[in-house]
Amino acid sequence: MAAQTNGHVENTIIIGSGPAGWTAGLYTARGNLNPLLITGNDYGGQVSVTYEVENYPGFPEGLSGPELVDRMKIQAEKFGLRVEYDHVSEIVVDQHPFEVRTVNGKSYFAKSLILCTGASPRYLGVPGEKELTGKGVSYCATCDGFFFRGKDVLVVGGGDSALEEGLFLTKFASRVRIVHRRDELRASKILQQRARDNEKIEFVWNSVITEIHGGEDGKVNRVSTQDTVTEAAGELQTDGVFVFIGHVPNNSLYGGKLDLDEDGHLIVDSRTRTNIPGIFAAGEIMDKVFKQVATSVGQGTAAAIQAEKWLADYEAEGYEGADHDPREWPARAYNPMPVREPVAA
Ligand SMILES: Cc1cc2nc3c(=O)[nH]c(=O)nc-3n(C[C@H](O)[C@H](O)[C@H](O)COP(=O)(O)OP(=O)(O)OC[C@H]3O[C@@H](n4cnc5c(N)ncnc54)[C@H](O)[C@@H]3O)c2cc1C
Repeated sequence: MAAQTNGHVENTIIIGSGPAGWTAGLYTARGNLNPLLITGNDYGGQVSVTYEVENYPGFPEGLSGPELVDRMKIQAEKFGLRVEYDHVSEIVVDQHPFEVRTVNGKSYFAKSLILCTGASPRYLGVPGEKELTGKGVSYCATCDGFFFRGKDVLVVGGGDSALEEGLFLTKFASRVRIVHRRDELRASKILQQRARDNEKIEFVWNSVITEIHGGEDGKVNRVSTQDTVTEAAGELQTDGVFVFIGHVPNNSLYGGKLDLDEDGHLIVDSRTRTNIPGIFAAGEIMDKVFKQVATSVGQGTAAAIQAEKWLADYEAEGYEGADHDPREWPARAYNPMPVREPVAA
């Protein structure tokens, strides 16, 4: 169905201001598409709460996450990217141009969309967690580590983020205990070695937190635990709990509209195309394997190039006048990633 627009139709709207979004913004701006990026509530995305990024090529000394985000933004704006500080509440994709509605009551129309809404921290889901968030429970060491100078903290998790952030917390805390449900870590070997070499770090193996408790001052003072092997209950006194147990894709805009996999990631083909022609996705919203700044940047690049190509085709051919539901447009724009059979020797 053709949409009733407010007169102005964007070539492309990018949703999300993480590494994938800024990169899509850079490429579409350099491609003269005059793109618009809507930042979302978490300006800069996950990398903006990362203390130090050491594995993004081109920065041998490493740099802070917020500085990397600043640099990405400056570079994209230099080529004309427009930025709106707003959060998208709804996308309408059964009409063309697509419509993007925001929590500030704005409505935008666009011929193409690049979805870069990334992921958010996974919660423990135990009693006390919600009530004590900001009062000792945190999901961001960079943001809150400073408040734990000379204090005792727990870090929950066993992956790279848990160890990276645990190491960062040793700059402030007197002791950092890593609470992990297993007796071995998933984190990279280099981080494991650094954590083991740090005298402020201890490990609490085979343990999960079952409840977080606050003291009379309303701040965290202890947690209840359970041994994952013996099921024995325990308790740890602490001043803070930092949770790094993975992320869930920010997909609330897409349910029932775009194809999602069983974990809630957008399904795209090898060219970042979703099941609706003209809608592309990049970064952790479509990637559950690599989840790095460098890979998100690469996917943002691919989505932008693909959006440019799609717009060129659309301008040249139209989609039968674009006068009906984009979900019924020719499927040639959507080829799910082929399953490759091994080649016989
Ligand atoms: C603690 C931590 C440390 C890390 N360290 C490293 C590291 O050292 N090296 C590395 O390579 N990677 C690291 N990562 C991973 C890296 O940060 C991510 O892979 C990367 O940020 C993913 O980028 P993205 O653009 O896909 O999404 P995200 O960074 O998740 O950004 C998502 C964006 O989407 C926006 N958004 C969501 N919903 C909406 C909506 N409805 N409307 C508008 N906008 C919306 C958010 O506001 C946000 O701006 C780390 C991650 C964490 C959490």
